[in-house]
Amino acid sequence: MGFPKHLTSAIIRLELPKNDGGLILTKNLYLSCDPYMRSRMSRSTEGSYVDSFTPGSPISGNGVSRVLDSSLPGFKKGDLIWGVINWEEYSLIKDTSSLIKIQHIDVPLSYYTGILGMPGVTAYVGFYEICSPKKGDTVFVSAASGAVGQLVGQFAKLYGCYVVGSAGSKEKVDLLKNKFGFDEAFNYKEEQDLNAALKRYFPNGIDIYFENVGGKMLDEVLRNMRHHGRIAACGMITQYNLDQPEGIQNLFLIVAKRIRMEGFLVFDYCHLYPKFLEMILPLIHEGKITYVEDIVEGLENAPAALIGLYSGKNVGKQVVAIAHE
Ligand code: NDP
Repeated sequence: MGFPKHLTSAIIRLELPKNDGGLILTKNLYLSCDPYMRSRMSRSTEGSYVDSFTPGSPISGNGVSRVLDSSLPGFKKGDLIWGVINWEEYSLIKDTSSLIKIQHIDVPLSYYTGILGMPGVTAYVGFYEICSPKKGDTVFVSAASGAVGQLVGQFAKLYGCYVVGSAGSKEKVDLLKNKFGFDEAFNYKEEQDLNAALKRYFPNGIDIYFENVGGKMLDEVLRNMRHHGRIAACGMITQYNLDQPEGIQNLFLIVAKRIRMEGFLVFDYCHLYPKFLEMILPLIHEGKITYVEDIVEGLENAPAALIGLYSGKNVGKQVVAIAHE
């Protein structure tokens, strides 16, 4: 465990294998860096919902690719797809079960790693399905400028909620207030007393907490939740690099305040993807939802980009561009 300082990675050049049948050949365009990938760097699978990476094999994760050649029905040369791919420039793929054909190309293709991909559906499911929002609810989002958080805040604003976000730098706080339209935002690193900070923005308490970080923030949020509040337990990134999880002092307040805290995994909600696209595409085209990406160029810069997530280097959704078309 511990914070990953650098990934021991190597770029290996290989001859492109022949597609002898039953495979698709792809050129990979964009890679997604996601916090859950930390759990795949560990041999222990306890509490994890994904397999560990295999040393000596390519890292895999969500990405966007173009099909160059296919001997599988359902895929043809030129198709654009998103889903689980290897961190490599070209891939021969046999198991296409996670791949989704991209139908809408009037938006940046990198969006399929973020707003139109896994983080987008996470924000959608987490807010609309798990939080049971009501107009006028007070909503708090942690890691609010990230891939998921920036959308949750905008969904909540469109729904008529009062929304406050926390983030780890002035630049991110400015984004929350001036680009994503949060009512208020604060830099949690500058607050001596998180309880006092939450009381400042929520004098009457929090109805909905969209939980991305866990640890001390969750503890202080529990003290500030209203009775019958809802917590969507989406992620707890403060804990991902610790040997022992931090103790939560105020956990019993879930009972005393009758709070519904519900964990969810986006993978269980794939069936909502068409409904999600129907909702989000018009919002993007009408400019009612905006999305910030942090795109680094080149496969060789991918490991540093992934590690940067755990110290908050990314501003917005972290993407790696390996090729542009
Ligand atoms: P982000 O784009 O928000 O990137 C991670 C951010 O987390 C960093 O930029 C940083 O922001 C913050 N962070 C990193 N380390 C710490 C720390 N030690 N303490 C506090 N904040 C930290 O990531 P995503 O939007 O992709 O993911 C957000 C959360 O959602 C994660 O917990 C992730 O695991 C979870 N998730 C869950 C899913 C599900 O199915 N349940 C699916 C997808 C994501 P800052 O500078 O503001 O601190």
